Amino acid sequence: MANSYEGRYCGVCDRELGRSYFALSKRSQTVTCSEPGVVLVSDDNGLTDFCGQECADYAEAAISSTLTSAYPTAAKTVPCSLCLRPVDRTAPHVSVAMTQFEDASEPWLVSARVVAERELAVYCHTCAEHRRTSEAFDESELGVAV
Ligand SMILES: [Zn+2]
Ligand SMILES: [Zn+2]
Repeated sequence: MANSYEGRYCGVCDRELGRSYFALSKRSQTVTCSEPGVVLVSDDNGLTDFCGQECADYAEAAISSTLTSAYPTAAKTVPCSLCLRPVDRTAPHVSVAMTQFEDASEPWLVSARVVAERELAVYCHTCAEHRRTSEAFDESELGVAV
C-alpha cells in the first residue's frame, strides 16, 4: 500500500521514515492582512526529511547555528534571520520551517496530516536572492543543500 513516507529517508541518520516524521521545507509566503493568521504559500520545496524528534532537533540546531536570528516571531515585521534587515511578512518572503507529519494515507489516497510546525528562519529579498540561504545550509554541519 502506498503511503506518504515510502522510499523517503532521514537526512541525519539515513533510516527509512515511519508513520510519524519531520520535514524541513523552504517556501515563499505572504501573510494576508485581511484575515490575520492566513498565510498564502506560493511555492513550497521540501528540503530534507527526518525520521523523528531527535534527528529533527539535531538538524534544527545545526541550521539555527548558522543564523543570526533564528525562530522569527509572528509579528508583522521581523528581522531577517541572516542580516537582520526588517522583513515585511505581508509581502512575499522566503521562510524555512520544520513540520511534523503523521501519515494519514488511505488505500485510495496518499496523504499526511500536519501535527506541528515551527518556523526556523525568514529571509529578506537580498539574502533570498543571493542564495545565501543555500550557503547558510551548506555551511551548517548538516550540509543540507537548498
Ligand atoms: Zn533519523
Ligand atoms: Zn537578509
